[in-house]
Amino acid sequence: MVYLRDRDEIDAIRAAARIVAKTIDMLCREVRPGVTTAELDRAAETFIRDHGARPAFKGYRGFPASICPAINEEVVHGIPGARRLEEGDILGIDVGVEKDGFYGDAAITVPVGDVSEQARRLLAVSRESLARGIDQARAGKRVGDISHAIQSYVEGQGFSVVRSLVGHGIGREMHEEPQVPNYGPPERGPRLMAGQVLAIEPMVNVGGPEVVTQPDGWTVVTRDGSLSAHFEHTVAVGPRGPEILSVAEGEG
Ligand code: MG
Repeated sequence: MVYLRDRDEIDAIRAAARIVAKTIDMLCREVRPGVTTAELDRAAETFIRDHGARPAFKGYRGFPASICPAINEEVVHGIPGARRLEEGDILGIDVGVEKDGFYGDAAITVPVGDVSEQARRLLAVSRESLARGIDQARAGKRVGDISHAIQSYVEGQGFSVVRSLVGHGIGREMHEEPQVPNYGPPERGPRLMAGQVLAIEPMVNVGGPEVVTQPDGWTVVTRDGSLSAHFEHTVAVGPRGPEILSVAEGEG
């Protein structure tokens, strides 16, 4: 079942997604060597609740926290804890929020202090792959056009995309149909229609695309230990092109 949202519903999703964006902006200002991911998580939960929303990840299938940090070779779904960020790390921050029954979801990966040239390039390529995927989120296109735009760009830059985790529809639930893979041929998959809302989220590895889940049952890491980055936006397929909902006021 693919949902088409009316203007009011899209505005409600935007309200949730805007809190996600503001939370991420706030966290980015706190990222520095010595900070623990548990401290970032506490700051996020307080910020989200102060904005009249609920951290959507907390309690989701038993997940214990409000944000999913991912350091270096961690891809997604890390659990906040006592680990301190170190100079040269890269940190993925994934945030989901529910407000008034609607969901928003976004992620960013940022450098901690000064990082390697390889890490800087990974962040730039991953961010650009999301932009290219979003640009395909247009009525009349197909999900595969998003997938192909991401994969072809990333692989052209010498990196790989994770295949076992995908983007998704979002709205009244955090995860709705359709799935939005970050790989695959163009002009395939479900047709995109105005009013659909998608969470597009490439996960890009320096090495191979294979990932494994750690014994904690959550943290996904690259199998070869290479660096990984994750960027995500909540995007409406608008009548005149893609509309990014997960931006703070004044940004979008
Ligand atoms: Mg997501």
